[in-house]
Parts: sequence; C-alpha cells; structure tokens
Amino acid sequence: MRIVRFDEGRVGLLEGGEVCDVSEAFPGHGESWPEVHFIRAIGRWEETLPRLESARSSGARKPLEDCRLLPPVLNPSKIVAAPVNYIAHREEMLVDYTVENAGFFLKSPTSIVGPEDAIRLPFSDRRQDPEVELAAIIGRKAYKVRTEDALAHVFAYTIAIDVTVRGKEDRPYRKSFDTFTPIGPCLLTPDELGDPQNLQLRLSVNGELRQDAHTSDMVCGVAELIERASWAFPLLPGDVLMTGTPEGVSRIYPGDRIEVEIDKIGGFSMPVEEAG
Ligand code: MN
Repeated sequence: MRIVRFDEGRVGLLEGGEVCDVSEAFPGHGESWPEVHFIRAIGRWEETLPRLESARSSGARKPLEDCRLLPPVLNPSKIVAAPVNYIAHREEMLVDYTVENAGFFLKSPTSIVGPEDAIRLPFSDRRQDPEVELAAIIGRKAYKVRTEDALAHVFAYTIAIDVTVRGKEDRPYRKSFDTFTPIGPCLLTPDELGDPQNLQLRLSVNGELRQDAHTSDMVCGVAELIERASWAFPLLPGDVLMTGTPEGVSRIYPGDRIEVEIDKIGGFSMPVEEAG
C-alpha cells in the first residue's frame, strides 16, 4: 500500500498513477492544527483498515499530477535520527563514532515539509547539506523492543532529507530549522517494501549524482536502530525514525534543485531557496 497526503489534508492511496481518495477512513481529516487524525488512525490500524478498504472501493480517483502532495506524516511526537550509520560517511566526516556509541538525536517535528515544498536555507555564509535517508514510520508503540521483534512496529517507510547546518551548535538546533526535514512522496508499507536493508538510495544536486549507496551498508539496520532507540524512549505511532545518511554529503546553495530516490518508494525533487 502506497499512502499519500494531498491537497487540503486529504489521504489517498497511490495506485497506477492515480490517487484514490480514502479520506473518509481517517476521521478528522482536514482539521486545523494540530492535525493528528492521521497518526491517530495509524495507531488504531485494526480499526482503520476495514474503513480504508471500504473507502477504496468508492473513493474518487484523480491523476497524481493533478494532486499537490503534502508530507505523508505530520505532527509526530518526535523525529528520531541516527547520527552516523554508514562507515564511509563516518570517514568523510572525520569522526570516530557511530550510532552504536553516540546514540540518537531528535529533530523538531516542525521542520517537516512535503515533497512539493522547498528547502529554505537560513544562512548565506555557512555550509548547509542535504542528507538522504531511509525513514521508518512507527505504527505500534515500541518501548524496549528487541531487534527480532522490532520490524513489527514499523507502519511504513518513506524518504527523508536531513538538512543540516555544519557548525558547533547542538544537532537539534542545526537540524531543526523550518523546512529541514522534507519527507515523501508516499508511505510504502512493509509488505510491499520487503527487506529495508536491500534498497539503493540516491541524492542528486542539479542532476549531478552526489550520494549513491545501499542500505545493506548501514552499521545498524532498521530493526537494531529500533531496539536501540526504544531502549531510551517509547517510539509512538507516527514517529519518524531516520536511519542515517551514506557518504557523498555536500553543500547546497539557493537556486539548486535536489532530487532523491529510494528503490521501491520512488522519489521527489525540490528547489533550494534563501530563507529570507
Ligand atoms: Mn542525518
């Protein structure tokens, strides 16, 4: 199942180039802040699924290109991110730690934007980088779960960009600016994604390939990341777990266009602007 949020906070299933509107399976859709209907429905999936099947049979369909895609998840309780989870990225960053001994950091949920938005850079004189990452969206509360049970807590996967200002401030500050967590274009459920450690991920800037790596090169796979993160704090439905970026991280500038893709999930492209 390929789930999108689109237009005025509607929920759809992406099927064969069309979006089937299944909003009626998500009570409260289109509500004003805080929009929590979607993560609430994820957290009660056994109740949501039959409504979804019924909505799918009667839902209006329209071509994907006529839809404005929104971030597929909004207002998670937290975005949990692995600092260094690919050895080649550790080497390029000249650091000696990985997620195994450095733990995780949190990004502000307000930094989330969708695949049709722009990245807006707050600094004109500092290095700011986009990092492509596989993201797991939690479906069932996970607290102190073991690696072997962990993937049962994943609702779906998506593509995330962890935009980062380089510098000495704490990570939560440098990575939480407005627009610094683009996610999308859809949520792909595990039954269709298969093994999360068998995906190629890529990031290009202005058509030039900068990151091109495979999730089998993660230091800790998704399941182990969930064990480690959930040892510290409960992961709740809708929470975004960012699994770290591979090598090839480089600076971007206003006027650039970023393109990301991950096998099976798809991809998106977005412009880079000055925050002003
Ligand atoms: Mn990152």
